[in-house]
Amino acid sequence: MKESIKSIAIVGGGAAGISLFNYFTKKINGNNVNITLYEKKSYVGPGIAYQDDYDFLLLNRHSKQMSVMVEEPDHFWNWYKSQYKVRFEQEEFLPRSVFGEYLKNVFEKSVERAIEKNIAVCVKYSEVSYLRKERNYVLMTRDGETQEFDLVLLCLGNTRLHDHYYLNGQPQFIYNPYPLKQTVSLIPKNANIAILGSSLTAVDICLTLKENGHNGKIDMLSRNGELPSVRGEAKPHKLKYLTYDSLNQILLKRNGQIRLRDITKLIKKEFEETGLEWKSILAPKSHDSNAKKKLEEEIKNVLHQSAWQSVLMSTNEIIEKYWHFLNEEDKDIYLNKYDRIFMSRRNPMPLVNATKILNLMNKGQLSLKSDVVFIDYLKDHTFYVQFNNREYINYNWIINATGPSKHLSGPCKSGLIGSLISNGYATINNYGGVKTDFDSGALINKSGQPDTNLRALGHITCGTYYFTNSMEMIAKHAKQISEDISDLINQSLQEEKDFVSI
Ligand SMILES: Cc1cc2nc3c(=O)[nH]c(=O)nc-3n(C[C@H](O)[C@H](O)[C@H](O)COP(=O)(O)OP(=O)(O)OC[C@H]3O[C@@H](n4cnc5c(N)ncnc54)[C@H](O)[C@@H]3O)c2cc1C
Repeated sequence: MKESIKSIAIVGGGAAGISLFNYFTKKINGNNVNITLYEKKSYVGPGIAYQDDYDFLLLNRHSKQMSVMVEEPDHFWNWYKSQYKVRFEQEEFLPRSVFGEYLKNVFEKSVERAIEKNIAVCVKYSEVSYLRKERNYVLMTRDGETQEFDLVLLCLGNTRLHDHYYLNGQPQFIYNPYPLKQTVSLIPKNANIAILGSSLTAVDICLTLKENGHNGKIDMLSRNGELPSVRGEAKPHKLKYLTYDSLNQILLKRNGQIRLRDITKLIKKEFEETGLEWKSILAPKSHDSNAKKKLEEEIKNVLHQSAWQSVLMSTNEIIEKYWHFLNEEDKDIYLNKYDRIFMSRRNPMPLVNATKILNLMNKGQLSLKSDVVFIDYLKDHTFYVQFNNREYINYNWIINATGPSKHLSGPCKSGLIGSLISNGYATINNYGGVKTDFDSGALINKSGQPDTNLRALGHITCGTYYFTNSMEMIAKHAKQISEDISDLINQSLQEEKDFVSI
């Protein structure tokens, strides 16, 4: 008889942890299995992205495509329509906090289902800070409590934000902007503000400042000087060239690897099929391209955006396999040259937000600046920002919107992840996060072996799967992992039953 899995720990109760937990309670047959969920915050469900915050902070995907279950993409939408007590004007892109409420509800329903199936559930509001392998896996929390498990699933979310200019800890520097309800309220309305980055988080910050009546100047300081694209109406697109078949053919020809130029050719054909020119969408732009003009054009031609965005969205299907087989040297080139531009195209902002951003630019209150050389915090409590063109500006406040770092370094190497790495249970992936087995999400230990009873989901697997920053991808991986594990559990439960009845 195989070693049976009786006790499962899910570390992290955000969207990934909830999606996994929900699947487990549907798929495990019950009896004698217990699941413990660890969450360091005082609530389970919303995590960082969907926590309680302003209603104008919207989902970046259509509400009908946000779900904890890949097979039911409109699960959230149906819940909102049938249960949520408040109605919103912009229902295509609902507030993220509503999705957080949905996650809480999914969790409650999953607990009810678990009880019906005799699956014991325990929630511990504690941070897991250490993992040790003995006969099983011993988890230790920050308050010193230890418990043993047969299987541990890590759903930790983002481990660390970028801090390119080493400003964390300086007064008037906001390292983690969320929840914006709390952070932005610290800033005087007339302050001169720099936002580091020009991504969706930077857009959230601008919208919040605007809604709070901020009247000081706001500059987004960004390396590429580009705003996210404006979201059109993405329609289902059936990939014709960027397919598994094309990938398999190339892998046969090239000894199990694919090159960036092979992918570029397929992308080109895929775009041409829809009457589009790939370079105008995905090729890196020169720094001096005018962000305001580009935004105006995108707002005007929002219907044109739909076509290419539909193509990009449909790559969710194949993206991780293409990444998996991409030649190592080309992975580096891609990350240095194309990653940022792909992400800014792949994660566009809703039209309503784009219009608000354009209004701020038209009023002269918001500008985009690129090519920062360095930033210093001065004795007069302002930040001195030096640009490449010798211009410099003093800001009263700086808000970080550079997003999560893919790479594990500095503070990430402490705490739970640090213990995993220093004990050799996990190894650093040069392309981001920790190394995981592509098929199972199992952590790869220092001997290069996958440990199928220690698995990860979400951001710390970004080096393996590349695009992990979306609910759809999280739910897809949660389904795979939960099916795999539930099969093992159900099989061993059945074997036990058969053994007893002999
Ligand atoms: C601001 C923002 C907006 C986003 N908007 C969208 C969107 O609109 N649509 C979309 O598809 N995707 C979106 N994403 C991407 C993705 O869906 C979310 O990041 C998603 O919430 C990730 O879920 P997660 O569970 O991996 O991480 P999180 O939601 O961050 O959850 C991780 C949880 O683990 C807990 N935790 C961490 N370490 C420990 C520990 N050691 N012990 C105990 N608990 C621990 C944390 O407290 C947290 O609650 C967004 C991401 C961000 C950051």
